[in-house]
Amino acid sequence: MREDILLGGPVAFLSEELGFLPSERLLAYQAWWETEGFPISLAIDRLGTPHLKQFSAAGERIDEIGYPPSYTYLLNAGYSAGIIAEVAQRHDLRLSYLLGFITAYYDPGLYCPYTVTLSTWVPLYKYFQGQRREEFLGLLERTEPPFGQGATWMTEIGGGSDLGTHVQTVAYRGEGELWFLEGDKYFASNVGAEVAVVAARPEGAPPGLKGVALFVVPRERLLSPGRNYYIRRLKDKIGTRSVPTGEVELRHSEAYLVGEAHQGIYYIMEVLNFSRVANAIGVVAHGLHALAQAYKFAQQRRLFGRFLAEQPLFRHELSRQYERLRWAGALAWLTEQWLETVWLERPPYSERYALFRLLSHLAKFWTAKVALDAAHWGIEIWGGLGILAEFPAERFLRELLITDIWEGTRHRHLLDGWEVLKRFHLHATLPTLWDLSAVDPSLLPDIENTLALPEEEALPQIEGLMTRLAQTIGQLTATQRTYTVSA
Ligand SMILES: Cc1cc2nc3c(=O)[nH]c(=O)nc-3n(C[C@H](O)[C@H](O)[C@H](O)COP(=O)(O)OP(=O)(O)OC[C@H]3O[C@@H](n4cnc5c(N)ncnc54)[C@H](O)[C@@H]3O)c2cc1C
Repeated sequence: MREDILLGGPVAFLSEELGFLPSERLLAYQAWWETEGFPISLAIDRLGTPHLKQFSAAGERIDEIGYPPSYTYLLNAGYSAGIIAEVAQRHDLRLSYLLGFITAYYDPGLYCPYTVTLSTWVPLYKYFQGQRREEFLGLLERTEPPFGQGATWMTEIGGGSDLGTHVQTVAYRGEGELWFLEGDKYFASNVGAEVAVVAARPEGAPPGLKGVALFVVPRERLLSPGRNYYIRRLKDKIGTRSVPTGEVELRHSEAYLVGEAHQGIYYIMEVLNFSRVANAIGVVAHGLHALAQAYKFAQQRRLFGRFLAEQPLFRHELSRQYERLRWAGALAWLTEQWLETVWLERPPYSERYALFRLLSHLAKFWTAKVALDAAHWGIEIWGGLGILAEFPAERFLRELLITDIWEGTRHRHLLDGWEVLKRFHLHATLPTLWDLSAVDPSLLPDIENTLALPEEEALPQIEGLMTRLAQTIGQLTATQRTYTVSA
C-alpha cells in the first residue's frame, strides 16, 4: 500500500490509479476544498436540515430553502470548475467525473446537485426538441453564477424500485406542447431546481413501465406567474445534508414531454446511467477519505507502547481495505469509460450498451458495499471516539449509508444486472474482454450453472456470483491499469 497516496488526497489517488499527470484545474479544485470548501461542508452537515420558507411576507407561495449564504458559495465552486459546462461544451465526461471524485471525497451530498443537473441535461440535450429547448439547456449550461440546476424525480410513496407500479403521477394534455402533471414525488433531491425531469403516466397510457413517460417541469409557471411545483416538506436526513431532499407536490404543473411517451423508460434509464456512474465514483472517493482519516488517527494513537499505525493487525486490515477500494475504483472508472462510448446511443441500443449496463449495476452496488465497509472499519479504528459527533469518523458512515440506497438499492442492481446478463448472454462475451479465470477459475462455470436453474433457485445465489464478478473485473482492471486518461 502506498501511504503517500492514501494521505495525498483525491488527486494523488486519481493520478496514481489512472496514470496521468494532474492538471492545474484539478489541483486548484482540491486545494480550494482543503482550505475553504470542507470547513463549509462540515458546518452545513452539523447545522442539520435547512428550513423551508413556504410563503413570502406578502403571502405568496415561494417554497424557498433556507441554507446559509455560504452554501451557494460552496455549490458554485463545482459549477464554476466546469462540472457541467465541460460536458455541454466539449462532451468531456471524464473531466466532469474527475471533478466529481474530488467533490465526493469531501462531500458526497454536494456531488448530488451536480449529478442530477447533468442527468437532467442529458435527456434534454438528446431528446427534447420543444420550443423551450434552448432556454432549458441554456440554464443548465451556464458557466457563471447564477447557475441553473436540474433534478430527477421518479420515486413516489409506494416505492422506488418498482417504478412500473408506483409512478402514479398523471399527465394531461394541454394546448400545443403543454401538458399538466398531477401527483406527488416522495423523494425529490435538489428540490428547488430550476428544471426537473419527472416520471409521469400520460392519461390512458398502458400499465407498468411501458406507460411511464418523461417530462420536463420548470420551477416557474409560464401561463400564470408563480411556482410550478410546491415543496411540501424537507426530509430530515442523517446524511447528504448538502443537498436538499423534499417531497414535491405537482398541482396542475406545466410540463413538456421529453422525446416519445412510449420510450420514457429508456430515457429514465439513461438518466440513471449518469447518476449511477457518479455514485460509484463518489463512494470510492469518500471511502478513501474515511480510510485516510482512520490512518491519520492511528499514526498518533499510542496503545500498548506502540502507535496503532505500526501494529501488524492494523496494517494488514488497512492494506486489505485500501486494495478493495482500489479495485472498486477501477471498476467505477472502467464503467465511466464505457459510458463515454455509449452515452450518445439511442434506442434500440447496441450490445455494447448492454455490457455497459451490466457494468453499471455491478459498479453501483459493489462500490457502495466496499466503501461502506471501509467507513465502518474506520469507526472501529477510532474506537469509542468513532461514534462521537465531534470526531470526523461517523460522518463518513452516515453519508455512505445513503449512497448505498439512492440510485437503486443493492438487491435492485443484483436483479437488474442478472437480467441483463441473462437476456444478452453476456457470460459468453465477458471472457473475450477480461481473463476472469485468471482470478477466479470457477466463476464463469458457476454463473453458467446458475443461469440454467429455474429462477426461484437461481436468484438466491446471485449476490455471491455478482459480487465475485464485480470484484474480479475490478481487480483485473486495477492490476492491468488499462486506462487512457488525460486530465
Ligand atoms: C436521501 C435520498 C434522496 C433521494 N432522492 C431521490 C430523487 O431525487 N429522485 C428519485 O426519484 N428518488 C430519490 N430517492 C429515492 C431512491 O431512489 C429510493 O429510495 C430507492 O430507489 C429505493 O426505493 P425505496 O426506498 O422506495 O425502496 P423499495 O423500492 O420499497 O425497496 C425496499 C427494499 O426491497 C428490496 N427489493 C425490491 N425488489 C426486490 C426483489 N425483487 N427482491 C428482493 N429485494 C427487493 C430493495 O432492494 C430494498 O432493499 C432518494 C432516496 C434517498 C434516501
